[in-house]
Amino acid sequence: MKFGGTSVANVERIKNVAQHVKREVAAGYDVAVVVSAMSGKTNELVAWCNEASPLYDQREYDTIVASGEQVTSGLLALTLSSIGIKARSWQGWQVPIETSAAHGSARISAIPSKNLDDGFAAGEVAVISGFQGIEPLSGRITTLGRGGSDTSAVAIAGAIGAERCDIYTDVDGVYTTDPRIVPKAQRMDRIAFEEMLEMASLGAKVLQVRSVELAMVHKVKTYVRSSFDDPENPNPGTLICDEEDIMEQQVVTGIAYSKDEAQITLRDVADRPGVAAAIFVPLADANINVDMIVQNISADGASTDITFTVPQAEFQRAKDVIEKARKDVVCDNVETNMDVSKISVIGIGMRSHAGVAATCFQALAGRGINIRAITTSEIKISVLIDAAYTELAVRTLHTLYGLDKA
Ligand code: ADP
Ligand code: ASP
Ligand code: MG
Repeated sequence: MKFGGTSVANVERIKNVAQHVKREVAAGYDVAVVVSAMSGKTNELVAWCNEASPLYDQREYDTIVASGEQVTSGLLALTLSSIGIKARSWQGWQVPIETSAAHGSARISAIPSKNLDDGFAAGEVAVISGFQGIEPLSGRITTLGRGGSDTSAVAIAGAIGAERCDIYTDVDGVYTTDPRIVPKAQRMDRIAFEEMLEMASLGAKVLQVRSVELAMVHKVKTYVRSSFDDPENPNPGTLICDEEDIMEQQVVTGIAYSKDEAQITLRDVADRPGVAAAIFVPLADANINVDMIVQNISADGASTDITFTVPQAEFQRAKDVIEKARKDVVCDNVETNMDVSKISVIGIGMRSHAGVAATCFQALAGRGINIRAITTSEIKISVLIDAAYTELAVRTLHTLYGLDKA
């Protein structure tokens, strides 16, 4: 069972979480619980790091931001004990949850289950701090990237051979789009791994991307459900499962949006072999995630424009890299724009249906929304638009593909 920030936002809510755990213990399960920090806590800790030293050491950043989870794991263990359920807290280094050395966005490499198994044998609920781990060589605390408790939970479920992994949050499942901006969004009973992976990586923050990857690879039966449901009788939520396990596949299953985009355009770039490499190799070397790329065919055979997007957090670094690369890339000027957002239409059914992109473009045009860049894959279409039109575009497409609740 994993409980996110809003589910453990204060002691009252932690008491409510304990009731959910009690139900599963009463049903005869050994239970591992993964908790996030109280909502808002991690943001506060990150802000403190920036305030103390804007060019902070990532290792100390991890030490600081991992602390929010230590508090909630201890509080939940205390609360469980107080209602007669044997429990103890586990920090990442105690389990241990072993990770890579990539501080700030470490990857889990191994979770020896011995300690947790011993606890289960003793009839104890394991309350584990999410988001954090330890790098075995240096012995230092690491964190898994924002939203990383989802990944902790799925990885632990895999390591202990759990029957299922229930991710409790503040909505009762995965919806056709963010229910906070489209009240007509519908909850899905099931969603395929591939679709959830696209939804998560294209902006639906209900699950961290890596948690979906892990669930898919290790076949962990994962549900998204609500901690605000009646602990005696909660709804089952949404199951993330194989495509084959979904009876009726829609053409489009969901719409995602991301405001975390920044656009960079290079004007009048010399059109000759090696130019794209001269731009994108240095960006890759600097570990910058380039997403959408648009390059025109030049009319005169001499120069062209290249546009691409990067996450906003990497924008400044990307600009610096491009400035340095300009010695190898002849280009007139570099234009940038932070007020953009990416809207994505996702559905496995697109593989076998023509015309999904065309209707999307038409609908956006009908609303006077200009498209700056487009990317597609087999099961998704993404468009880059002015950020001011985000909500309008999401609602328009949600209605267009018949996803609105009656
Ligand atoms: P937690 O703190 O429990 O990890 P998050 O805030 O990370 O919770 O994720 C839950 C939020 O994800 C919801 O409150 C909702 O606004 C947002 N969300 C975005 N897209 C979707 C979607 N397609 N389905 C459900 N929730 C979504
Ligand atoms: N507390 C961490 C964060 O806010 C991890 C998580 O909540 O999943 O990113
Ligand atoms: Mg989350």
